[in-house]
Amino acid sequence: MPNKLKIIERQNSALQELNEIATISDISPIETLRKALEIGKKYFGLEFGIVSHIVGEDYTVDVQSSPPETLFDGQPFALGSTYCKTTLEIDDVLAITDVTTSKYVGHPCHRDFNLVSYIGAPIRVNSQVYGTINFSSAQARHLEYDKIDNEFMKLLARWAGSFLERQSVLDELSLAKHQFEMIFENNASGIILIDENCQIITVNKRFCEIIGFSKTELVGHNTRIFYIDDISYETAKQKIFNTDKSSYLNLEHQLKRKDNKLIWCEFVGSQIEYKGYGNAMIWSILDVTTQKELQDRLELQATTDFLTELNNRRYFTSRLEEEVSKIKRDKNSTTSLIMFDLDKFKQINDTLGHLTGDFVLKGFANILKRNLRKTDIAGRIGGEEFAMILPNTNLKNAAILANRIREEVSNQTTKIDGININYTVSIGLTALLYDDINSDSAFARADNALYVAKANGRNRVELN
Ligand code: GH3
Ligand code: MG
Ligand code: MG
Repeated sequence: MPNKLKIIERQNSALQELNEIATISDISPIETLRKALEIGKKYFGLEFGIVSHIVGEDYTVDVQSSPPETLFDGQPFALGSTYCKTTLEIDDVLAITDVTTSKYVGHPCHRDFNLVSYIGAPIRVNSQVYGTINFSSAQARHLEYDKIDNEFMKLLARWAGSFLERQSVLDELSLAKHQFEMIFENNASGIILIDENCQIITVNKRFCEIIGFSKTELVGHNTRIFYIDDISYETAKQKIFNTDKSSYLNLEHQLKRKDNKLIWCEFVGSQIEYKGYGNAMIWSILDVTTQKELQDRLELQATTDFLTELNNRRYFTSRLEEEVSKIKRDKNSTTSLIMFDLDKFKQINDTLGHLTGDFVLKGFANILKRNLRKTDIAGRIGGEEFAMILPNTNLKNAAILANRIREEVSNQTTKIDGININYTVSIGLTALLYDDINSDSAFARADNALYVAKANGRNRVELN
């Protein structure tokens, strides 16, 4: 009886030690397993302890606790040369007190490694055989293994299995965390997470590059710091949090970098529930300043006359079409159309050259620009032909403006390379009519008036 008590006491203290090592957080998983092996070694009174990983016929020592210069972690063996092969075959605890007097006499493990005493059990991780936990010695054990030893061996194997299982979950978690951080940090888009008060929760590296502020200058601060002014900040805020939770929001905003440079950014974002922050919002951001500038330039090129930087014929005509439709909606409004044609321009080209002609065309365009009101639209509609739309202007007032321009042209002398050039312009005027179907009829009337101006001696304004 005292013997049995002693055994139970020994087992209890081993179990307590096992419990304790599982709670120590500052040692690595390998060292925790090594401590468990030491507890087993002490319990069974054997000199070698191993946690093995077995894949097919390959046996690897995951962790060992053994006399110096005998075993090492990671040491490979052929499964067939180990008692563990038998342990896996019987799928239970294998206990050999003295191999020389057992049915395992002549076992390769005895023959090759001279291991006389052994106890081991399979370890299962996620219901799959992982390997074994085993203890052995070159000496026969002086005590026969009993039922309690078997139970303790099973317990150790279960403990090791659940420890490895938890470890694999932790490994997966840390891998997932690492992968997330890699994707977040190295994303080609800027990413920002904000709470419902527009306080910044986090940003990635690319976001900092785009906006020019460091992570510490952003996290914990309000997004207002990269908006141009209060109005653009409030407008963005309104749009952001008034959207349907399930949908993505696509916005284009101008932001201000730390160096005060203005940039255009494309935002794609959605609302998310973020632990501890209520309704958060995650945004993916691209700097589209270059594309935007290119697009603006292309738009300008498509609508502008290269030489004079006035509207080109196509864009001017589209604006005239709009004005014609407006007249149809509001019969009482009056809009005038003026056409200009430089007089005897061919002569300027012929006598002074094309380049000088170009210079004169630019000079004339500048006179038009100087006389433009905010709502007026001017364009170059042909070689030396220009036109102007004057919204909310009757023919009388349009004629006053036309004559002012005509006089300004005829009174000025253009100087190029020391040569004085004088030229005049003929002008045809018309008002847009309710009956105009499109811009063609209005153009045709102004053109007729212009023809009359030419016919009547040029440098004149005629109305039609
Ligand atoms: P009119 O008084 O009857 O209008 O005579 P004009 O010589 O101005 O009339 P015409 O239409 O015969 O000549 C227009 C000239 O404008 C012919 C063409 O060589 C010139 N021209 C057209 N486009 C350009 C241009 O971009 N640059 C220059 N320098 N000349 C141009
Ligand atoms: Mg002409
Ligand atoms: Mg002409």
